[in-house]
Formats: sequence, structure tokens, C-alpha cells
Amino acid sequence: MKHLRQLITVTMITTTILSACNNAAEKKDDTSAAASEKVSKADWGEADGKKVNLYTLTNKNGVQVKISNYGATVTSWVTPDRKGNKSSVVLGFDSLSGYLARPPYFGATIGRYGNRIAKGSFKIDTATYTLAKNNGENHLHGGNKGFDKVIWDATPATDSTASLTMSYLSKDGEEGYPGNLKVAVKFTLTDENELLIDYSAETDKTTVVNLTNHSYFNLTGDVSKTILDHTLQVNADKYTPVDKGLIPTGELKAVAGGPFDFLQPHKIGERIAAVDGGYDHNFVLTRETKELELVATLSDSVSGRSLEVYTVEPGLQFYSGNFLDGSFKTSSGTAINKYAALCLETQHFPDSPNQPAFPTTLLKPGEKYHTVTKYKVVVNK
Ligand code: BGC
Repeated sequence: MKHLRQLITVTMITTTILSACNNAAEKKDDTSAAASEKVSKADWGEADGKKVNLYTLTNKNGVQVKISNYGATVTSWVTPDRKGNKSSVVLGFDSLSGYLARPPYFGATIGRYGNRIAKGSFKIDTATYTLAKNNGENHLHGGNKGFDKVIWDATPATDSTASLTMSYLSKDGEEGYPGNLKVAVKFTLTDENELLIDYSAETDKTTVVNLTNHSYFNLTGDVSKTILDHTLQVNADKYTPVDKGLIPTGELKAVAGGPFDFLQPHKIGERIAAVDGGYDHNFVLTRETKELELVATLSDSVSGRSLEVYTVEPGLQFYSGNFLDGSFKTSSGTAINKYAALCLETQHFPDSPNQPAFPTTLLKPGEKYHTVTKYKVVVNK
């Protein structure tokens, strides 16, 4: 208790018992020059011989997002529901050990290439690059040790924003990808309850890049409930059908009238039985502009929470948590079962390096990769 009291005092955060419980495994780093009202830092153990920290971003409403430099991972996002009860709307653990057990990318930053690359191979000009086949015969989410399992350097904002930049140098040849890739991911929690994620990268050799965040959302804040009653709306009149290994066939298929048609809001459970294996598909966003645009809205009528997704990306992977099978448990012991949470991953299309008709994911020396996604939690009274 004494430890908890200190933590709360030092970080000057008014918080609920629930988020305080989430903090139980953290140890305040008193030497942190970063500690401020909006960004605080705690020790979170060690991995690969490096220090791991957990940062807490707090906005003026007392909403908190926690991010670890292990995998540049969002571990919790505590927001009130319509009655003012606070709970986290994303899946995560309150200690590092949960992540070291290799959960399926809970909250992590995914790279160098988010989603699948067929047969773990692609060509740039005449050179063929071979990657790990870590998903059947295909490559998934950057390989055996993608960006979700490395230790990033974290730099909290020096101004008064609740903001934190994670940087990482992915060396030439890492996981088979060409080029030294310098990556930075800036997370900002605004007073409007938005989590803005700004990604940038540069390379010294032509490579492929597709960065995303793999947060699993359950707006009830209770993963013992499924997301099947959540309502989803997506601005996409096409999607990319896939083969058995979840590689796009190349077709951009109209969603009209079928189970992929979320142009109007639908409950996720309404038509999921008609989708073999559940939703795990890339939606082709019908964008009005190239600017940050609202592309999807997820709502839960019981908690009153909605999640709005804004992006500049051309695609959105809607994954309904089909492979969650109870083998991971939350820190409080609740089994994380099928459909316990879902992902809305903003991205370029899967397997783009092998599909020239898709928007390109190539990054050349001298070019700047830059993409922005914003998640906003709205509480409807
Ligand atoms: C993929 C799923 C995969 C999940 C966890 C999602 O992005 O689309 O097929 O199971 O990540 O690895």
C-alpha cells in the first residue's frame, strides 16, 4: 500500500483503484527526468540484457495510456464508461512476464512488415529476400523477432504534451529484410481522449515497410465478454479475399450485401458465421482524401463507449480474435477466449511486396516513410 501511495503521489495522478491495481508490478524510477504530470516512467524489468520501462501518459480527464518500450507496446488504456466506471479498453498485461510469454502481439508495434508476405519471400529488382515462415508457409508481422519483441529507446516529450517517442534501428538483414531502417513511433494522448500514433522511417537500402499497431479492443473493458455484440462501421466498399493461408488472391471484391459489408453499422456477431474462420481480412478503405480521415467506428451500447479509427493508410485489417483460445490469461486470471477482443489494424495491404497492383510498400534511400493513425474513445451518455 505504501508503495502504491508513493507512486500515486509522485506521478500526481488521480486514478481509480483499478488502474492502481494495474500499476502493482511497476516500480517508480525516481531518477527519471521524464517524470511529469503527463508522462511518468516506471521500471518494468529487463529483457535482452536491457532495461524495460513502462510509461504512463495521462490527460486532463485522468484518462491513462500505458506504453512499454518492450515492443513499443500499448499495455492499457483506461477510460470511463457512461457511468464513470474506469477500465481498460485494450488487452494487456500488468507485468513484462506476460509479454515475454509471446502472446499474439497484444498492443504491440508491428514491423518491419505488418501482416503476411506469401511464402516468406519477395523480390526487389533482381534480388530475392528470404524471410522467416512463422505462419504456416508464410511470413507474419515481421518474423520470429519482429518490432513487437525488441527493446525500443523511449523519449518522453519535453513540452507539456502527454507524448512519448519510441525509436529503433532495425539493422540491415534483420529478419531477412534489406537496409538499415531507422524507425520512430510517437504516441500522443490528447485531452480529447485520442491516441495519436505517428510513424516515420528511413532506410539506406531499398526495403519494404508496413507499420501498424496491434491493440486488441474490447470496449466493455471486460474480456470475459466477447466483442460479438459490438457494432462496427467501416468505410470500405471492397475487401481483399484471401486463400487458405490468408494471403490475398489479388482480387478487390465488392462488399455489397455480404458479411463484409460494414458500410452501415452491423453487430459483429450478426454475420460472422458466414465468414470461414471469422473476420481476418483487409478492407480497402474508401477514402475521400489523403489526409487523416475517420474510416471506422466501433461501438458498445452497454458501456456507451465508441472507438473511432482515423488513418491515412489505404487498408484496415479487421481481425475478430478468432485464434484466441484461452491459452493466455489476463493478469487477474481471466482466460482470453475466442472473440474476447478485436483488432483494427491500419495498414497497406497484405503481401503487397508480391502484388504489384496493390499500393506500394517500397521505401528507397532518401525517401521518408510517414504514416499516422488515431484512435479516439468517445463516451456516449
Ligand atoms: C492477423 C491474424 C493473426 C493475428 C495474431 C492479425 O493481424 O491478421 O491472422 O492471427 O494478427 O497474430
